[in-house]
Amino acid sequence: VVLLNDAWLDRPAPAPEPPEGTCWYCAASAAPIRRRGNVVAIPHPEPAMGVEGDPRPIVLAGAARRQAVGAHELVFGPHDGETAPLLAMIAERWADLRRDVRLRGFGAVRRQALGRHAAWQVFALPYERTESAPAGWRDAERLHKERVIEDDAATTLLAWAPRVPFETWVLPSFGTSRLERSDPAVVDAVGSAVDRALARVSRAVAGSPVDLCVVDGEPWRIELLPRLAGPSAVEAATGVPMHGVLPEAAAEHLRAEGAGSVGRQSQSSPNSSAADFSSTRG
Ligand SMILES: [Zn+2]
Repeated sequence: VVLLNDAWLDRPAPAPEPPEGTCWYCAASAAPIRRRGNVVAIPHPEPAMGVEGDPRPIVLAGAARRQAVGAHELVFGPHDGETAPLLAMIAERWADLRRDVRLRGFGAVRRQALGRHAAWQVFALPYERTESAPAGWRDAERLHKERVIEDDAATTLLAWAPRVPFETWVLPSFGTSRLERSDPAVVDAVGSAVDRALARVSRAVAGSPVDLCVVDGEPWRIELLPRLAGPSAVEAATGVPMHGVLPEAAAEHLRAEGAGSVGRQSQSSPNSSAADFSSTRG
């Protein structure tokens, strides 16, 4: 499927960068769609999707095109704020957007980079995304422990088949609730665990950007995906991610990062395996 929007010159604009000396976000927070304490949701200034249009796919020769019907918003709070209140606002926006029967797939993403305002791009798509039900797999991982970093009300673990080195998931430890139906205490626990996981992963990848994605499902989860380099030509040609960081070694490394007992020199240890790790997407 390809999503097309004739309002774009080329492709969807990234979230705006604040002009030097000012904060675009703090100024934009004056006119929110929704406010909850010091956290706001606003329309994306250059939305990748809009509410106007026909969401039905146009299919020709086996391939589908769609008009970019959907919703695209920004959710953010104060500078250096915690993740949990932002997740609560994302839950509120998903619940509200689900009332539009044309909207079927929900997500949120933000890129963590030095000096960048913690702003989530929240989106709703006119088609369902692959249904995600990681509960059984999560329970097995919690018993097995080899890839688990933290296990309390929230579980933090390394993905079994990581698409990128140090791909880390944080999800509720119990039950199968979607984000909107999760107990506020659970949303809080996942948010705090994400903040801790992000600190560990950022140290492990020496400050490279980390993408955070909220994935709808039963239960919902947050994926942390370091962006160390773009896909190689072989990855592009095969459509399969390849790298040499085994999740078991990465888990061991991240546990040590949390304890503060590992220096930068030991960062090569998870890379010492010659094995290529790959996963099927989605
Ligand atoms: Zn600001």
